[in-house]
Amino acid sequence: MRKFKTESKKLLDLMINSIYTNREIFLRELISNASDANDKMYFIALTDENVPTLGKNDLKIRVAFDKDARTITISDNGIGMDADALEKNLGTIAHSDSLEFKTGDDAAADDDIDIIGQFGVGFYSAFMVARRVRVVSRAYNADEAYAWESDGVEGYTIEPAEKAERGTDITLFLKDNTDDDNYDEFLSEYGLKDLIKHYSNYVRYPIVMNVTKTRELPKPEDAGDDYKPEFEDYKEDETVNSMIPIWKRRKSEVSDEEYNEFYKSQFHDFADPARVISVHAEGGISYDVLLFIPSRAPFDLYSKEYKRGLQLYSSNVLIMEKCEDLVPECFGFVQGVVDSQDLTLNISRETLQQNRQLRAIANKIEKKIKSELASMRDNDREAYEKFHESFNRSLKFGIYSSYGMRKDLLADLLLFYSAKQQKMITFDEYLAAEAEVPEVVGADTAEAPKAIYFAAGEQLDRLGKLPLVKAVLDKGHDVLLCTDEMDEFVLGTIMDYKEHEFKNVMSDDLGLESESDKAAAEAAAKLNEGLIGAMKEALGDKVAKVEVSTRLGDSAAVVTAEGPISLEMERIMAMMPDAGMGELKATRVLEVNAEHPVFEVLKAAHDAGDTDKVKLYTEILYDQALLVNGLTVDDPAAYAQKIFSLMK
Ligand code: ADP
Repeated sequence: MRKFKTESKKLLDLMINSIYTNREIFLRELISNASDANDKMYFIALTDENVPTLGKNDLKIRVAFDKDARTITISDNGIGMDADALEKNLGTIAHSDSLEFKTGDDAAADDDIDIIGQFGVGFYSAFMVARRVRVVSRAYNADEAYAWESDGVEGYTIEPAEKAERGTDITLFLKDNTDDDNYDEFLSEYGLKDLIKHYSNYVRYPIVMNVTKTRELPKPEDAGDDYKPEFEDYKEDETVNSMIPIWKRRKSEVSDEEYNEFYKSQFHDFADPARVISVHAEGGISYDVLLFIPSRAPFDLYSKEYKRGLQLYSSNVLIMEKCEDLVPECFGFVQGVVDSQDLTLNISRETLQQNRQLRAIANKIEKKIKSELASMRDNDREAYEKFHESFNRSLKFGIYSSYGMRKDLLADLLLFYSAKQQKMITFDEYLAAEAEVPEVVGADTAEAPKAIYFAAGEQLDRLGKLPLVKAVLDKGHDVLLCTDEMDEFVLGTIMDYKEHEFKNVMSDDLGLESESDKAAAEAAAKLNEGLIGAMKEALGDKVAKVEVSTRLGDSAAVVTAEGPISLEMERIMAMMPDAGMGELKATRVLEVNAEHPVFEVLKAAHDAGDTDKVKLYTEILYDQALLVNGLTVDDPAAYAQKIFSLMK
């Protein structure tokens, strides 16, 4: 027996002893090797005039199993190996970066387990499932065959063997089942087909299995009326993989139907995708990318369980199921495939993240998704609105969680409901419409403030009716109505769009009042100093101040907030499970309309020295203003009592 080289032994140890959950990848590895061997054979036939040319269908891969003997055999009719090649290729593992990583640092032992699954470690992975492996191979230019055999522990043997045709048969003698591990899953037609389809569907050569099928026997001539059809089993070769990768084909050559079917089967969705993006790059680094924008969000998209990522193939072989680095979190809903023959398979996980080629591909993907969404937004608004409904939170979260760093990428993809146009619009559309608004209606100020106005709350129809929203609309400006809990936080993160600041109509100083309005408010405040003071006293700590306002139209009063926390933010934070957030309170201000008849009543009561009435009316005014804002009053029963007292 010949001994394994030290490095090989270390890797073998790792293979055999790691409790590796993804050991099924052994099949992918052996099929990839078989495919490579066929490639090499094809090339030789092409270039060596002493070797007969091969047709397209002459090279195959075959997978067979024997349930009783508990074996799986993977065969190819590729280049084959002579005794030397067996010794060289299977007796030592090539010196590679990944091996160095594995052996260099024992502390990284836990990570190793993962690396096995994600990068080609090749032939030795067979020992994850096999207690013994026998390789019988005959080189294309040799008359005799050799058998390499090993239990994967100490060493291996190489002996002459019989093999009629060129190529390699690799037989795995599966390990015995234990309480924890069941290897029988690999000993079924269904199980093997499933693995082939999953990992090796796009291998260029047919992967053939001799499968059992059932057919109806011909009906005998003399069959009576009570004849029941009879069936028999028969064996037939079947090509299990589909071979031509759909992502390598030009978009013009593939039907929508084909894309839809591929998407649904590959990514387990029931609905057709909303958009298909296909990219083919050649040059410095060549790759094919096929992306899908789903038409609806998977149920777990916003949960911790959701894992984003694209499938990463190298030369048609799946090497990573979800490669996170290929798609940014804000586009985490995108599904798809990336295939590049230029990626080195032996890179460790760390280097993958820093891999320049991969980063270049990821950048391209990000740009492509963005431009596809932008084109959908501009050319197919109905579809885009649907998309936006499903995925706006991903975009918003992308802005919020990057502290605004991604706003250039994402802000123009957002839609908000326009109170004026009564439909979803973009910031650009808002600004375009604003440009048409004549200089602030009725304003004394020369310059219109550069702002995008918004109001945030729970319900669209309620928001649209708020006095402060109406006040801005009356001035000719539009207001974006934000009903998503994240909205206000997101706008706060964006801060401004094309030099227009976001202004909350319910808390910010909008700068929309004309000089004459301001003067009128000041005069009224001065005139009614005593009453305003009494009203503030009546409300105590509930408000920071009571103010006279000229922007209330026909409303008597509103509650607004001063400072960074709006009333809506306060409401949302109170619902958050994070301890402490609920403690954050808005600084409330009661704005009253000095022109309103109710104010006259209050004034009269104040002048008559009826402090009880001033207190009662102020409290009612405050509670009503809260209700109009869609907020809850502190004490609904007390509020009802106050109203009753008026009805008596
Ligand atoms: P890798 O495929 O990454 O080089 P492996 O350990 O899988 O590493 O295989 C080592 C070598 O053994 C291959 O490079 C190839 O030369 C040879 N080999 C493996 N399988 C076959 C096969 N089915 N036919 C011919 N050569 C093979």
